[in-house]
Amino acid sequence: DLILFWHRCDLRIADNVGLAAARKQSSKVLGVFCLDPNILKRDDIASVRVAYMVGCLEKLQERYRQAGSQLLILHDEPHKALPRLATALQAKAVFWNWDVEPYSQERDEKVTESLKEKGITVCNEWDRLLHEPGKILTQADKPYTVYTPFWKNWSKQPKAEPAMELKDAEGLSPKEQKSAEKAGAISLPTARDLGYIWENGFLLEPGENAAWERFETFRDRAIQDYQEQRNFPATDGTSQLSAALKFGTIGIRSLWQKTEELSQYSRSDESRNSIQTWQKELAWREFYQHALYFFPELAEGPYRDRFKNFPWDNNKTYFQAWCEGKTGYPIVDAAMRQLNETGWMHNRCRMIVASFLTKDLIINWQWGEKYFMQRLYDGDLASNNGGWQWSASSGMDPKPLRIFNPSTQAQKFDPEGEYIRTWIPELSSMDAEYLVTGKISPLEREACGYAQPIVDHKIQQREFKRRYKDG
Ligand code: FAD
Repeated sequence: DLILFWHRCDLRIADNVGLAAARKQSSKVLGVFCLDPNILKRDDIASVRVAYMVGCLEKLQERYRQAGSQLLILHDEPHKALPRLATALQAKAVFWNWDVEPYSQERDEKVTESLKEKGITVCNEWDRLLHEPGKILTQADKPYTVYTPFWKNWSKQPKAEPAMELKDAEGLSPKEQKSAEKAGAISLPTARDLGYIWENGFLLEPGENAAWERFETFRDRAIQDYQEQRNFPATDGTSQLSAALKFGTIGIRSLWQKTEELSQYSRSDESRNSIQTWQKELAWREFYQHALYFFPELAEGPYRDRFKNFPWDNNKTYFQAWCEGKTGYPIVDAAMRQLNETGWMHNRCRMIVASFLTKDLIINWQWGEKYFMQRLYDGDLASNNGGWQWSASSGMDPKPLRIFNPSTQAQKFDPEGEYIRTWIPELSSMDAEYLVTGKISPLEREACGYAQPIVDHKIQQREFKRRYKDG
């Protein structure tokens, strides 16, 4: 019996719960990926993300071939394309892993309905999280809205073993291949064919192998000092696995198991603490996924009522300057230029630029949220929305108001100005002291072609607080 496994944000054959379940039922398991025009035409898509995804699909096709089977590509709305393919191949069932995003859930319901109409069985599993939504609840059986108690509960629960890797599968016969093509299976297009051009390369190469290599590098070095180093954007101190986790080229159960093993063999408390600090980040990812699952309205607007009608300035010229890295605040500009050039930004800097947009420029966080989605290769609705709402103080954060001072942040986390110099070449010969305090004279700014500060931090934060208090 032929089974189709529909890949979405789980572009791997190892430790994939739904795929392993499909393989258990049949040796004839075919992968399928559907290029969904509804997603590809959205205005919050990043070229780098599409290019990365296509790269991952290319690698996934190789992995399928090695395992004896194939990954088929479709380019149409899933509720039309999948039943067409499944019928043409006389598939018995279609399997896939659940997703928490509102759009995905709606789409999946439509796909389920149209498959069932054709008499095709649908099977779903949870794969992308260590603990699925509904498994981590408060004593009153409610979803958590605060991270720390969530973590306490989440970290105590036993974690599942990695799922079996796809092996010894069977592919299509030449006749079936023809039927698949007739039913819409195409060869994998390039990102450019899809209308997205990205030429700057990737911080992390696409695919399962590259993700594991990156993890091993991180495990052998930086994870031991993560607690200390994770806040310094000039240091290669974080895993840079976010795109791998977003597209699921790395299985979360395997990742967890490896960090647990490492922790057991660690000799010092410091390194054990560092590993745990990293695990806490994985839990942040799950916290935001649970939050989006239970509160889908987060995707539409602020969680806290206080921000429902906040009097934002929404100055378009300021917003443009922020996007381009031309605010005249070196740490902010360096970070925005890193984002524009690489499709990635260090977490500390994501917090700094988000605070600056909302508290200094008094611009609605949703503008920033969207711009990030248009630029990030790890752009993910749950984490991005969570990060933005946290930074705007509109989200699930017990602290009522957070305002970052850009120069204090730079002094603490980029004390030598190394990160600033890397991303703002016009300031490369300036002393650290000026870079981190931002105290560069107007004449000097003009001489090196660097922007004057567009706003005054002190005045703006006072103004923001006033509006917040009056709200
Ligand atoms: P590490 O420090 O190595 O962390 C390991 C993994 O844990 C990450 O890969 C990520 O999957 C997860 N993680 C770490 N921190 C967070 C966090 N605060 N929230 C949720 N998950 C986390 N992360 C995204 O994956 N996609 C986004 O679109 C995104 N947008 C953000 C927007 C803002 C305003 C902020 C403040 C944070 C955002 N983050 C987002 C979270 C975080 O910045 C990135 O996950 C992290 O910088 C990725 O780098 P890394 O893989 O080296 O992380």
